[in-house]
Amino acid sequence: MKQLLAGFVIWFFVSTNGLTQSTGQPGPAKLPRIAIAGLGIESSTFSPALTHEEAFHARYGPEVFNAYPFMMPVSPLRKQALWLPTVVGKSLPGGAVTREAYESLVTKTLDSLKKYGPYDGLYFDIHGAMSVVGLDDPEGDFLTRIRQVIGYKTLVSTSMDLHGNVSWRLAQQTDLMTCYRMAPHEDAMQTKERAVVNLLERIKSGKGKPAYKAWIPVPILLPGEKTSTRIEPGRSLYQQVEPASKQPGIVDAAIWIGYAWADEPRNQAVVMVTGDDKAAVTQAAEKLARNFWGVRHQFDFVAPTGSLEKCLADALASPKHPFFISDTGDNPTAGGAGDVTWTLTQLLARPEFQKANGPSLIYASIPDADLVKKAIVAGVGGLVDGTAGARVDARFAPPVKLRGTVTSIVRGDKDAEVEVVVKVGSIYVIVTQKRKPYHKEIDFTRLGLKPREANIVVVKIGYLEPELYAMQQGWIMALTPGGVNQDLARLPYKRIRRPMFPFDKDMKTPDLSAQLVPISGTSK
Ligand SMILES: [Zn+2]
Repeated sequence: MKQLLAGFVIWFFVSTNGLTQSTGQPGPAKLPRIAIAGLGIESSTFSPALTHEEAFHARYGPEVFNAYPFMMPVSPLRKQALWLPTVVGKSLPGGAVTREAYESLVTKTLDSLKKYGPYDGLYFDIHGAMSVVGLDDPEGDFLTRIRQVIGYKTLVSTSMDLHGNVSWRLAQQTDLMTCYRMAPHEDAMQTKERAVVNLLERIKSGKGKPAYKAWIPVPILLPGEKTSTRIEPGRSLYQQVEPASKQPGIVDAAIWIGYAWADEPRNQAVVMVTGDDKAAVTQAAEKLARNFWGVRHQFDFVAPTGSLEKCLADALASPKHPFFISDTGDNPTAGGAGDVTWTLTQLLARPEFQKANGPSLIYASIPDADLVKKAIVAGVGGLVDGTAGARVDARFAPPVKLRGTVTSIVRGDKDAEVEVVVKVGSIYVIVTQKRKPYHKEIDFTRLGLKPREANIVVVKIGYLEPELYAMQQGWIMALTPGGVNQDLARLPYKRIRRPMFPFDKDMKTPDLSAQLVPISGTSK
């Protein structure tokens, strides 16, 4: 009893200090050393916009913990390893990242990794749809260069957005691999936490790298607006992922939709399953891939779609409000430049909105730093006169003329920095210093706008994010021009794999057998 009690005391001491003890012997066991690194962006190669380093809002060292609620000081996970955060950057979607920005962020990450090694593990937190000017497969390149620093004894666990792309190289360099299972990505944090938990489990149990990684490219390329997991067939397809991952001998399972607005050979859907049981891993992957292929014809837009003209006619005729119109072609959260003026130009020209007491319409949004400056000079209640937008993407319409009353000026948003609202006729136009997505009710109400009371709300977005979706009493996605045109058939692809569904109508059933990716650092 005494001995037992002594053992208990030691166990208690060890566990309350956050240390693990696997030997049963007195004395603290060594905590695993786990680095954290990653860059996240989806960037369109069909947009003339470029993304620079500051867009990543990179966090360095201990600041990185703030990106993860499950890594707060009180969290149990935090105590289970010696965490060595390096650099984690996350940008709004945009145009391709400049080579300078990419090299700078990669170099900072590698320098930081060199300082604190060796590592038992690395949590690699990426989106997976980064395009870099003049470089294919940036995430594969990044991890290969990280491996040159950390070596191959380190276990790498990668978490991704399901709109990311998984090249063979990325699959080979990583050991554990997963992605979101929901679109919209309500499970983003849960996914990241799973990647970290699985990494810890494999290190602490001594199981190490899973023996098998099944990788299956599925030649399908679809926009996110057709593949939401809120509706069929995305819903049922993604509901198969978790049960697949829970089978004996399997560590994780994932389906990537891929990213449609970049023109690279890696852009396509992928299924991956990792684990220690070869038959279970390959069979689960093949089943998911087959089922994905089997429902390909059923994917359709998540909401009714139409020309802007049709959307407006429906919205104006609707007795219910707010009626939402997604201005999809320039969706900044898919990679649009965000400053395409085509839709706003059409709206401002409509006779219905010319008078101040016409049907109220909120337009979110158009970035233009100069117009914001002018609005600040005019002040709230003042008259502003100028042009906005089309500084980056002027392919579809020139800068739009805005002459109206400033109804609000708000500073301090992380993305927009300064936001102003200009009322032109019955349209409230949100103009931002830098581009910003409008996804939440508070994004509007903090500017003094009342979206619930508006007749029409037009947002540069694809599918509505949860809060807007809950608010809408009517919703149509307008198929408008821009860097993320939803009409993929109109995009000038040259480098994606062919044949590819839905571009090649009569393509034969592809080979969907599992390809086993060699364990990282080996050729088998
Ligand atoms: Zn996504």
